[in-house]
Amino acid sequence: MSLNVVGQQRPPKQGEAPPSAVWMSEPMLRYRCNQKGCCCSGWEIPFTLDDLLKLNAMLPEDERAAMGKGIQLVIDAEKKGEKGEAILHSVKLDGVGDDKACRFLEGGGGCGIHRKHGIAALPDLCVDFPGFPFKRTDGAVELWFDPVCPSVIDQFAESDAPWALHRQEGAFGDPGLDVRVSHAADPIAGRVGKFRLEFDALDQLRAVCVAELGKPQPIFQSLANLLEAFKRLDPLQKNGGVFDPYPVEPTDFVRFLFEATGAHGPDLLAASFVRYKRFIHSIDPMPIVNAQETLQDHLKDWQPAFAQWLAPHDDLLRPLQARWLAHRFGAPMTKGRAELRRAADEIVHCFATSLRFAAAMGATLQRPVDRDLYKAAIGAAEYVYRSLHLPRQALPWFAAFGMPVELNDPPGSDDPTKEDWTAKPTPAPASAE
Ligand code: SF4
Repeated sequence: MSLNVVGQQRPPKQGEAPPSAVWMSEPMLRYRCNQKGCCCSGWEIPFTLDDLLKLNAMLPEDERAAMGKGIQLVIDAEKKGEKGEAILHSVKLDGVGDDKACRFLEGGGGCGIHRKHGIAALPDLCVDFPGFPFKRTDGAVELWFDPVCPSVIDQFAESDAPWALHRQEGAFGDPGLDVRVSHAADPIAGRVGKFRLEFDALDQLRAVCVAELGKPQPIFQSLANLLEAFKRLDPLQKNGGVFDPYPVEPTDFVRFLFEATGAHGPDLLAASFVRYKRFIHSIDPMPIVNAQETLQDHLKDWQPAFAQWLAPHDDLLRPLQARWLAHRFGAPMTKGRAELRRAADEIVHCFATSLRFAAAMGATLQRPVDRDLYKAAIGAAEYVYRSLHLPRQALPWFAAFGMPVELNDPPGSDDPTKEDWTAKPTPAPASAE
């Protein structure tokens, strides 16, 4: 049998030309990988065809032969090439051992390709993770750091100061950041319903979110004010109308937070924690992993665990929670397929799951939830929402409550710059005087 396969058509990369600006979380200017190899095992890393050819060309003759073994081609099931060819989605190299470690991972957690052949030989995904670059149509680049990585979470914990957005003009002079920016190709934008926001309005909205989370008030009050403001966004008004998180009575929001906290089965959460263990370095995860049934029991009856091990330590955890959430709300278009009301709800889903993990972890270890334990809970919650694609009906909704399905997933919603997202909103009917 023969297979006629073509590579994926990718948008052009940013390349060496500097973007007009780069937007990113300010604490990520100091981000450094811990070099422990946590993201280099447990899954088959998907390489693009270009990555594989680049890597192959860099390898000496004797290593190339081994490269060709244990390769899986992943074909895109939904698309075909111009002549009906199958489209290659990615190439996966079989992992090594029980935990499917990357075949190039060295004993100490470093990368053998990087050490022997330099950063230029690495697949883009290995260079970029956890900092993914996206292109904006205004010429800027968005550099998004994924909080599933423990070193990103370490940056949330680096200080108690209010978190900030950073706008960079010109090169960083830091190869880790400049190379990531040069890889930017995939588009990014934010929308309300199917209408894309102008970038000035989007940047203003995210600045307002960050300011709200910097206020000295309980986290649930900031989130209630924000989610009510997202709920008031109107697809029929330009840029969704005014975004103003004025103080609200939080009862409805607290009910939503409670439902979101209890939304998942304890078995699914406990199994996800075990899978995430290789990313956890702020505590030793093994006493919890080895007590998986106990963890699952506390995830099931999470309310007593919450009251005993988590709630009394709110004040201690608040700066870390506020900085994580500001990172998330500072780039809301990276969630919810870029629909901002849905994104706001999804950020709260993740926050709620972190609370449940933290409470159950504290109860399992019989110790109060401190920052190190909460860092692991943040990562585990991010991992749940990164690795599972849950049906919408399985979750409660607040800002996006009642939103029609076609506004959640309009045609082409994998690409937020698609034309059908930029059509002018229908003007609202004039109100009768
Ligand atoms: S998960 Fe983050 S800290 Fe761990 S190896 Fe990967 S990039 Fe480095």
